[in-house]
Amino acid sequence: MPEVYNWQLGRNMEYQYEQNRPKRQVAYVFDPNKCIACQTCTISCKQTWTWGSGQEYMLWNNVETKPYGFFPTGWDVMLQSLMGEGEWANGVYEGQTVFEAAPEGERVAGWLPDDRDWAYPNLGEDEPLGIAGQGTHIPDTPHDMWFYYMPRICNHCTYPGCLAACPRQAIYKREEDGIVLVDQDRCRGYQECTKACPYKKVFFNTNTRVSEKCIACYPKVEEGIQPQCVVSCIGRIRMMGYITPADEAPDPNNPLDYLIRVRQVALPLYPQAGTEPNVYYIPPVHVDPSFTTQMFGPGVEDAIKTYQSTKTDERLLGLFMLFGSTERILHSFDVRDGIAYGYDEKGEEVVNVPLEEPTFIRDYFDTVHENYILNVT
Ligand code: SF4
Ligand code: SF4
Repeated sequence: MPEVYNWQLGRNMEYQYEQNRPKRQVAYVFDPNKCIACQTCTISCKQTWTWGSGQEYMLWNNVETKPYGFFPTGWDVMLQSLMGEGEWANGVYEGQTVFEAAPEGERVAGWLPDDRDWAYPNLGEDEPLGIAGQGTHIPDTPHDMWFYYMPRICNHCTYPGCLAACPRQAIYKREEDGIVLVDQDRCRGYQECTKACPYKKVFFNTNTRVSEKCIACYPKVEEGIQPQCVVSCIGRIRMMGYITPADEAPDPNNPLDYLIRVRQVALPLYPQAGTEPNVYYIPPVHVDPSFTTQMFGPGVEDAIKTYQSTKTDERLLGLFMLFGSTERILHSFDVRDGIAYGYDEKGEEVVNVPLEEPTFIRDYFDTVHENYILNVT
C-alpha cells in the first residue's frame, strides 16, 4: 500500500491510493462552545437535500449531545474499539489508523450500523455526565458534570475512508476543492463506504439502492457562497472556507488557515482515524480535557488557552465576529481600528463588523407618553 503524509498524525501512514492533495481544500471551523442544539442546521440541510423517499433517516448534518449522544448509535465508541488504544508522543500518533488496523483482506477497519442504530438521532440529548443533586451549583470549570453539543457533517477528508473502501471507485475527491462525492451512476450499493467511514457520514438510500452523502453544497460553493448549514446557523458557530495544502505554508490572512494552522485553536475530530478530516472544532472549555483530548487530539489544552485569550486578542476576536456575518466565502480577513473586515477571492471587501456592538439603554420611564416601559431584554 502507498505511504502518504498525514500532518494531523505528524507522520506517514498507509493509504489505498497515492498522495494527491487538491489545489485547495474546503474546510470548516465549528465552535461547540456556542452551539445551542437548535438543529436549524440539520433541518435546513434536510429540507434542501434529503427530503425524498428513501432518505427518511438521512441526516447529512446532525447535532448530538456528548458524552451520551451518538448518531448512529455508539459510532465513536465503535471507532475506538476498532483502532485499539493509541498514544500520542510529541504530536505524533503512535497507534493504528483505520487503514492500518484493517483486517486481512480488507482496506479499512469498519462496521455497518443496522436499522436500529440509525433510528434514534436524538439519543442522549441534553444528558449530562453525572447526576445533579438538590442545590447543586456549578462554580468551577471544568466541573464534574457537563455535556456539550456536537454538530457533525461529512469531513471531506483528505484521505477518505469511504473512497478507499469502494470497490467500484464510485467515490471521488474533486481536484479543485477537495469535496468528496458519490457518483450515483457508478455506485452499486455495496455499502463498503458506509462501513468504512469512521464518522458514519455515508448513507444508503433504500429506494434508489445507492449511497448518498453531504455534498458540501457544491452548487453554492461554486458561486462563492457558504453551505446551507453554515449560513443558517443561528448560533453563528460555523465558518467555511479553504485551507492551504498541508505541504505549503499557511496563510495568516486566510481565516481558516489562521484558526487551524497558525493559532491551532481549531482541531480535527478523531484525527487518530487517519482520514485527515477537514471539519475542525474549538474544544468546549468546560469539559474534562481527558474526554476532549481523546476526541480532538493532544492540542486541546493549548487550544482552550488560546480561545480564552480572545478577550484580549483583537485579531482572534475580530475573526470570531466574522462567523455568521455573511453568506459569502471569505478568503482573507483583517482587523483594524476596532473593525473586522472580510474579503472575497478578488480581495474585495464583502463585510465589516465592529468588535463591539453599540448598545443603547432606553429609559425605564417614557416622559413623552408618561408611561413605564418595561425593558425585558
Ligand atoms: S467523513 Fe466519511 S463520508 Fe466524509 S469524506 Fe470522510 S470518510 Fe468519506
Ligand atoms: S444551527 Fe448552529 S447553533 Fe443551531 S444546532 Fe446547528 S450548529 Fe448548533
